[in-house]
Amino acid sequence: MRVKKPRGVFDILPDKLEKWQHLEGVVRDLAHVYGYREIRTPIFEFTELFQRGVGEETDIVAKEMYTFPDRRGRSLSLRPEGTAAVVRAFIEHNMHAWPQPVKLYYIGPMFRYDRPQAGRYRQFHQFGVEVFGCAEPAVDAEVIKLLLQFYEVLGLKGISLEISSVGCPKCRNEFTDALVSYIRPQTAGLCKDCRNRLHRNPLRLLDCKEPGCRGLLTEAPVPLNYLCPVCAAHFAALRNELLALNISYNINPHLVRGLDYYTGTSFEVMHAGIGAQNAIGAGGRYDNLVQTCGGPPTPGVGFAVGIERTLMALQDQGIGFPDAAQEGVFVVSVGEGTLRHALRVVQALREAGIRADRDYAGRGLKTQLKQAHRRGVKWVVIVGEEEISRGNVALRAMDTGEQIEVNESELIPRLRAWRA
Ligand SMILES: [Zn+2]
Ligand SMILES: [Zn+2]
Repeated sequence: MRVKKPRGVFDILPDKLEKWQHLEGVVRDLAHVYGYREIRTPIFEFTELFQRGVGEETDIVAKEMYTFPDRRGRSLSLRPEGTAAVVRAFIEHNMHAWPQPVKLYYIGPMFRYDRPQAGRYRQFHQFGVEVFGCAEPAVDAEVIKLLLQFYEVLGLKGISLEISSVGCPKCRNEFTDALVSYIRPQTAGLCKDCRNRLHRNPLRLLDCKEPGCRGLLTEAPVPLNYLCPVCAAHFAALRNELLALNISYNINPHLVRGLDYYTGTSFEVMHAGIGAQNAIGAGGRYDNLVQTCGGPPTPGVGFAVGIERTLMALQDQGIGFPDAAQEGVFVVSVGEGTLRHALRVVQALREAGIRADRDYAGRGLKTQLKQAHRRGVKWVVIVGEEEISRGNVALRAMDTGEQIEVNESELIPRLRAWRA
């Protein structure tokens, strides 16, 4: 029996992977110029981290985590998102003693036992940034600018920014009271989950996807209308910072992220793709998360981007990427005793940083040229007995079929000049 891959995961084959590498290159370059440094945390953590960090009542933790006991019975979970683990690492390595703010980014796979559908997988990938140790709205704006510039550099069109504020715990208590008194008379219309949420964590009512619950909530109070003076001032200052950076935005009071840890600023980047509007990147402020996870009080703000969704959006818009295969050279050898010489040519090219390959078996010229063509290389170098006797090789451009003879010492400078 052939073993197949599990549902909801996928292989990234070389053709596709080169697109991923291009996107990852954009991530690394941008993070670098904005002063962020990469962090890599483990794929699995103690389950408790996500229960405390993301919130036990969230869909992510309650329904979608891959949780399993290890051989000594401790509960581990595959990370369903990136922030909780970065916060854990921040605390564990005393990063509050580093120069503040600490600006980190990550890129890697996350895992959620979700119903697989277009653009949604059980192993998916995110790129995210986190800034610790600065509560100023200028940092929120910088994080948002970085997110927008990421899409800009990739060339993605049709994106828009939505912002809101969910307030601090003080605002949240007032909002939650208002929400509960609004919903309570209509409890009968709620789904079973929401009736539980109403007692345990009413804020989570806002991310229910059931049409019945959504209907009841359209007229419900929104957090933005319950901001305390401090949170209202922070939100106003953020809008000024965005203005200063020439960033346009919509205020969406219904924007509530499906994670418990957000405080204050929350934002989403929407993409008007085929069909409905989709959030392709989102984040916000989480000023209490470090403390919730056992660290010193430390403000934080960050975002996460879905890489699969971003690539899908780029593909929808027909945005291409550089094709790595096109850069290559294929070395063809013709005649007895030229194989060894071809080997030396290939090796010289590789050592000069030029992608080069050859036929290992010394097959006929036609077969080798066909092989070069199938690989889609740009150049073929032909090593023949006659050319060797003159100290030369033949260089053929695959797209035009044009062929010239060049001195071997000229080969590398010429290829370099053409590539530039
Ligand atoms: Zn507040
Ligand atoms: Zn519901």
